[in-house]
Amino acid sequence: MSRVFNFSAGPAMLPADVLQQASEEMLDWNGSGMSVMEMSHRGKEFVSIAEAAEADLRELMGVPSNYKVLFLQGGATGQFAGIPLNLMPEGGNADYVVNGSWGKKAIKEVAKYGAGNLTATSATDDGKFTTAPARDTWKLSDSASYVHITQNETIEGVEYHGAPDVGSVPLVSDFSSTILSRPVDVEKYGLIYAGAQKNIGPSGLTIVIVRDDLVGNARSTTPMVFDYAQQAAADSMLNTPPCYAWYICGLVFKRLKAQGGLAAQFEINQRKAGKLYAAIDQSSFYANSVDKEYRSLMNVPFTLANADL
Ligand code: PMP
Repeated sequence: MSRVFNFSAGPAMLPADVLQQASEEMLDWNGSGMSVMEMSHRGKEFVSIAEAAEADLRELMGVPSNYKVLFLQGGATGQFAGIPLNLMPEGGNADYVVNGSWGKKAIKEVAKYGAGNLTATSATDDGKFTTAPARDTWKLSDSASYVHITQNETIEGVEYHGAPDVGSVPLVSDFSSTILSRPVDVEKYGLIYAGAQKNIGPSGLTIVIVRDDLVGNARSTTPMVFDYAQQAAADSMLNTPPCYAWYICGLVFKRLKAQGGLAAQFEINQRKAGKLYAAIDQSSFYANSVDKEYRSLMNVPFTLANADL
């Protein structure tokens, strides 16, 4: 068997040993006589898988006890709506910093539910992104319910390498393509969200890590599957969750823990990205035009150095 390297949009590669374990457990998980795909999400087997996955994710990311960890559906795109519905009252507004394509989508979606203030953008006149707006250029509004950033813009390869300080306003960040790639100070954020399919496991699962004081204020029109309080009260099983995706994510969490956690991943990722950027920067054929301060550790886009070639 030969496995390919997949650098495409959408789902990413999973560790071969995780897939191997899943294949061994496919017909009979842990002597249960069932595949995880066939189990009741209410049964003790799946509940044990779900609980272990949450505990392992909390340990990996150092999630404080005053944060809920939710395992939802609808992708990061679902949260573009879920976040304002939970955090922003009717007629409210929120600040959006746009440093790439996903931030543009997020601010477009929020306009259905209130005002998304374009607090800062690094878009060039022809709509490209090769840097992120520095914190001192942001124009925060006084009444924003939260400040939204995209931690790592997957397409453009532009990443904030930490949590910009926004004082007491909750910082909300899209971690879809950077979650688990390095240690993160969860306490600096009010809410972190990520679709699973880039850095964790199969598509279909969306992680939301949200501070307790931001839970319980959803609008009455919020679909119940997106209501953080209702999902937290139901252990993310208000309806049937994506059980198999949850299980695979759990295997990935165990593997990351066994490999030394996020500090170890950070070292590996720095080494890998460092080699790739060095090769591109030394090449006269390829170029990466992203501002070095904001170059992504996870997504390294490159173009031809000479577009006329
Ligand atoms: N935000 C970012 C940063 C992404 O990379 C993606 C897609 N990979 C999305 C949002 C959309 O995610 P989903 O397809 O899970 O809705």
